Amino acid sequence: MTVRPVVITGDPVLHRPAGKVTAFDDSLRELIADMHETMDAAHGVGLAAPQIGVGLRIFTFVFSNDDDAPDRGEIINPVLTVGKISEQSPDPDEESEGCLSVPGLSYPLKRADWVKIAGFDPHGNPIAWEATGWFARVMQHEYDHLDGKLYVDRLNAKWSKKAKKTVRAEGWGRAGNTWQPGVDEDPFGHDE
Ligand SMILES: [Zn+2]
Repeated sequence: MTVRPVVITGDPVLHRPAGKVTAFDDSLRELIADMHETMDAAHGVGLAAPQIGVGLRIFTFVFSNDDDAPDRGEIINPVLTVGKISEQSPDPDEESEGCLSVPGLSYPLKRADWVKIAGFDPHGNPIAWEATGWFARVMQHEYDHLDGKLYVDRLNAKWSKKAKKTVRAEGWGRAGNTWQPGVDEDPFGHDE
């Protein structure tokens, strides 16, 4: 298993829809093992394949939940059903989201409190579960990656403006930027 570099916003692989997985083989399972290792080294709660530069519809997660889902897992070619999203302003204290591909930053965003997700395990068997609360947020965030969407693309006007300014100031927003979990300083301060 290998910890892979995490691709930073601006790289085209993050901003286009990922392709369907068609072969449930050993190389798929190797990729998924690398994704788990990278997610753990980065202290993430989820990681989508495009975030390590692979344009395939797969994400991994590690999140203890009271829903009928494993605390750690992965899903391939998922289909997401999303509940209602409140139109109120998001709460910066309770609803701030972050992303390993927008390292070190977080911005508030409303998400649905409930989702249903269905897809396949690494052997091609169908799997599905419902998710609530923050676990539902994780599902929505990771699923978005597979459609080439980052959470910063969903921010309201006020927060979007701040995010765009910061991304520019960091020199991101173009191809080729990455960071290496376990080597580069942890962008979200998990090393401290
Ligand atoms: Zn993300």
